[in-house]
Amino acid sequence: MPQKFDYICLGAGSGGIASANRAAMHGAKVLLIEARHIGGTCVNVGCVPKKVMWYGAHISEAIHLFAKDYGMDVTLNKFDWNRLASNREAYIERIQGAYANSFTGNKVTFINGFGRFVNDNTIEVNDEQYSANHILIATGGAPIIPDIPGASHGIDSDGFFALRQQPERVAVVGAGYIAVELAGVLHALGSETHLFVRKHAPLRNFDPMLYETLIESMAATGPILHPHSIPKTVEKESDDSLTLHLENGEQYTVDTLIWAIGRTPSTNNIGLENTDVKLDDKGYVIVDEQQNTRAKGIYCVGDCMAGGVELTPVAIKAGRLLSERLFNGQLDAKMDFNLIPTVVFSHPTIGTMGLTEAEARTQYGNDNIKVYTSSFTTMYTAITGHRQPYKMKLVCAGREEKVVGIHGIGHAMDEILQGFAVAIKMGATKADFDAVVAIHPTSAEEFVTMR
Ligand code: FAD
Ligand code: NAD
Repeated sequence: MPQKFDYICLGAGSGGIASANRAAMHGAKVLLIEARHIGGTCVNVGCVPKKVMWYGAHISEAIHLFAKDYGMDVTLNKFDWNRLASNREAYIERIQGAYANSFTGNKVTFINGFGRFVNDNTIEVNDEQYSANHILIATGGAPIIPDIPGASHGIDSDGFFALRQQPERVAVVGAGYIAVELAGVLHALGSETHLFVRKHAPLRNFDPMLYETLIESMAATGPILHPHSIPKTVEKESDDSLTLHLENGEQYTVDTLIWAIGRTPSTNNIGLENTDVKLDDKGYVIVDEQQNTRAKGIYCVGDCMAGGVELTPVAIKAGRLLSERLFNGQLDAKMDFNLIPTVVFSHPTIGTMGLTEAEARTQYGNDNIKVYTSSFTTMYTAITGHRQPYKMKLVCAGREEKVVGIHGIGHAMDEILQGFAVAIKMGATKADFDAVVAIHPTSAEEFVTMR
């Protein structure tokens, strides 16, 4: 007989952990199953190690680009990549430990193993079966490698975090968050870094002000951007270097090639054929607005859910709301996928929320949109030889000028956005922004002084 639980969460990443803990806090008997490492993508090969590397890059930029003009005669004797990676891993182990303690504290049963559905309410893991009336699929996703000759000579973002020494020359292929972030970090830490994008720009779905300013910054300080560059083959040379051949006939030889061309949901070998769960044509789990799949009692949150937004706080919020609904009587609880703030840890950082200017014009009509912008040099860099641009935009709709889009690129934009996101989620108008006294001297004050 399978051991009985109230709730089984498959996958202990951002979504699974959040949902399991919240359910247990409401008294449910919960089983959490993880095939690899506690914390999933975000903690082990995503947000957390990426941000540590980004902080390292930040320190490197301060030393190389700005210290001299602040009057500091700094010599960097050595950069020890391995030491940074080891300290990062020790930090991650501490986070894993804290999560494990939270499972004990909340009385969540944790099993390390690869789980598969046997039927709609039974999971098998490590040759044992467990059943529950409620089961969550939170199995996340994995990086994609392109189907071209020699592609396997490259690594992906997981491989980037496994690097034990700094590559001298790197090619990063892709135009999304991961490509931009990893290329920026590698460049700032001193690798010769080439970023190859298929079309004219990285981050093409963002407001053009953002990617145009990013391209401007890349042209000034790197990494080297190669637009209209589609990889055709990869060749391993006798000295182990890799030559990337492009469809346009160009070729580049590097030491490390990183594919950052998107991710695929981890749903293909978890026994879903034994359930009534339905997948879309890309393998994402189809859900309704309350995270119910087509199978009664099976739910899905996070990166493997169709129509979602692949961000940690989105998986966490959806997971917690689901548990509030299932185990705390909040029958109407559901995730709101509108107006989600997001940051790209680029150089400089990007923060964005809501509609791009073009989306707003299409949605509301040209005459109903008013756009406010601000453009200045980041004060942090103003006295240096490496002046960095700051660009900001507020997209406002209707006579009341409700703020429907906020976009910024510049130093500390990653930290600036969250507070404004609260105001915008509450329905703030331009007049509400104007009514606030500026904090001076900051970059953020520009958002409340735009004319
Ligand atoms: P995951 O965190 O991927 O967790 C799924 C877990 O399920 C994994 O641990 C996996 O091992 C496990 N699993 C899979 N199948 C099974 C099975 N059959 N049995 C048991 N366990 C199983 N988001 C941000 O918000 N900010 C960032 O800065 C950010 N940076 C990122 C940087 C990188 C390089 C990457 C790759 C992602 C980044 N993300 C970021 C995205 C974020 O990591 C994901 O959106 C988030 O981790 C999704 O959570 P999840 O719970 O859906 O899946
Ligand atoms: P992505 O979907 O954001 O970008 C993939 C990019 O690769 C696209 O620009 C696409 O045009 C390009 N591409 C696709 N196929 C290609 C090919 N064959 N050759 C060249 N380019 C190709 O995916 P990602 O960067 O892997 O990130 C996945 C998700 O993880 C993101 O969408 C985001 O939600 C999340 N993430 C968030 C953060 C953050 O919050 N700071 C950071 C990293 C990742």
